[in-house]
Amino acid sequence: MPQTIRVGILGATGMVGQRFLQLLEGHPSFAVSALAASDRSEGKPYAEACTWRLPGDMPGAARGLPVQAAEPPLDCDVVFSSLPAEVAGPVETRFAQAGYPVISNSSAHRMRDPVPLIIPEVNPDHLGLLDACRETMGSGRGFIVTNPNCSVVMIALTLAPLAARFGVQAVVVTTMQALSGAGYPGVSALDITDNVIPFIAGEEEKIERETRKILGRREGGRVAPAEFPVSAQCHRVNVIDGHLGAIRVRLGRPADPAEVRDAFASFRALPQELHLPSAPERPIVVREEPDRPQPRLDRDAGRGMSVTVGRIARDGVLGHRYVVLSHNTVRGAAGAAILNAELLLAKGYLKASA
Ligand code: NAP
Repeated sequence: MPQTIRVGILGATGMVGQRFLQLLEGHPSFAVSALAASDRSEGKPYAEACTWRLPGDMPGAARGLPVQAAEPPLDCDVVFSSLPAEVAGPVETRFAQAGYPVISNSSAHRMRDPVPLIIPEVNPDHLGLLDACRETMGSGRGFIVTNPNCSVVMIALTLAPLAARFGVQAVVVTTMQALSGAGYPGVSALDITDNVIPFIAGEEEKIERETRKILGRREGGRVAPAEFPVSAQCHRVNVIDGHLGAIRVRLGRPADPAEVRDAFASFRALPQELHLPSAPERPIVVREEPDRPQPRLDRDAGRGMSVTVGRIARDGVLGHRYVVLSHNTVRGAAGAAILNAELLLAKGYLKASA
């Protein structure tokens, strides 16, 4: 009998929390059993506490669940966290110390040594940090697994097949990031209409650090970051969902753009082999049209779990360039965490309580 794992969601009323609920509806292994948010929402039924902002209806099973405080204990086997970073740090630690596996979207613990920062197609071997992570948390059972920043997912996922086939020596990325990445209400309409904002607090540093951790090598209870430099410039643009990245890369050996294209298009990895429920058939979709990828047309590729690449060409400065797009609240957030949870379940790290 397949086991059902009961899930608690921290930050359940937010942009990412709503995506969790939407993506978990009808999931073969996970059933939502507890919801938590701030004291603004605590004590209310979810339908009253949450203004549903995604297309379609709020999942029926969530409507009557009470919103609780984001503190242990919660009636669940695993905790998915989409709390703001400044709140997430101590709260996620308290859940892990209380024995809960915590699967987090937030940046608070991503760069901590024993905490795995995982993209299941790229570095599932970094789950080997979990013994050290459990030890750090002190409960013997609880741990924290994180997924990357919403822009890092598409950057690291596309660099992985290039690193494996050609080697990577340097990366320069310019992002154009959607409004939903800032949560609700996010950027004021008066600031973003007819405008582009060339600043997203902390984002460039996260891209530069997290990409190198994900593509780094596990050494015992820590990860030695990949050695190549990553340089990022980030912009907020007037798009609802879908982050775009223009990437230039210096490869470790000469390669024809057709070989780069083939490295992307043929990329398959562990989630596809294991047939994890949220794994897209093609992690990287390659578009040949000269004006793709575009957020409106490509963000839902692979039910929002594929990233889409186009404009693969030679670059006069670093050698190669391409443009990549991903859905920032699906592959960049809730979908990424759910895929991490599916990998943890397949590898025996999650269990239903008796
Ligand atoms: P959001 O829309 O602002 O939602 C924040 C959630 O956290 C709400 O449920 C809110 O509850 C709750 N919350 C706020 N303060 C709290 C407190 N003191 N104690 C307990 N709960 C509290 O933000 P979001 O966009 O969903 O982002 C959530 C996290 O995911 C952030 O760390 C963000 O950086 C990360 N992330 C977001 C994206 C994205 O594309 N949006 C992508 C990757 C990662 P109330 O409704 O009760 O206030």
